[in-house]
Amino acid sequence: MYTHRELGIREVFLLRERARQELILFISSISLWRNRERFEHFSTGPDLDIDSSELEKAEAALLSSKKRRDDSIQIMMGRGLANDLRAGTRPNESGKLLTAFFGILRETATGGDPTEKQLTILFNALNCPVHLLVWSLKRRKLEVTSAFFSRRAVAEVLVRYLNLIAECGPVHGVCEDCGVMFIRKRERRFCHTCSAKRQTYAHRKEYLRKKRKEYYWRDAEDDREFRNKTKSTKGTMHGKTKTGKR
Ligand SMILES: [Zn+2]
Repeated sequence: MYTHRELGIREVFLLRERARQELILFISSISLWRNRERFEHFSTGPDLDIDSSELEKAEAALLSSKKRRDDSIQIMMGRGLANDLRAGTRPNESGKLLTAFFGILRETATGGDPTEKQLTILFNALNCPVHLLVWSLKRRKLEVTSAFFSRRAVAEVLVRYLNLIAECGPVHGVCEDCGVMFIRKRERRFCHTCSAKRQTYAHRKEYLRKKRKEYYWRDAEDDREFRNKTKSTKGTMHGKTKTGKR
């Protein structure tokens, strides 16, 4: 479905790696949002989908982008900045945004399309203010950013991710057992929790025990059915069977 003939294997590999980085940034950015814990996506299993070294890398990248003070001209959003930053942590606001963003991700994981409502919420998040503009005198480069956990920054990272996976295919999946989303490695079909459950000895033992019980009951049922049949036919077949056996 997602194979593009014009892209080489190496190109696809690089695009998927970039998509993975954006998805990790998305997940780490919303980790501070209120109501995040209401959604299990990307947070199940004994260890999270992101290992801490990747989080640290993402944080270091963000910090380094903020450190350029000496050789730069900076323009920062003044009044309203604190209020805008707080908006993402308002329970209603964050709940609505997370529902929409996770909804979009779920659709794109399974080859579907987002709804107009979800896209409207994304649109409104993209219309939130830019917080910082930096002109680097040394590199003569312009950088325009919002705080990484702000609504706008999260919306922007989601847009970048969606555009990347349009090229290389999604790097996230929906668990076939419980519907929780996870970062996809190879062709994983289940989230951490469910695949761990499937792999544990206890689960396998339980599975075999159930199966055996099932077979036992089925055998017992068959036996009973057989006996009933023979019993019910006994009357009519009585003479015949006896003579046949003799
Ligand atoms: Zn699952």
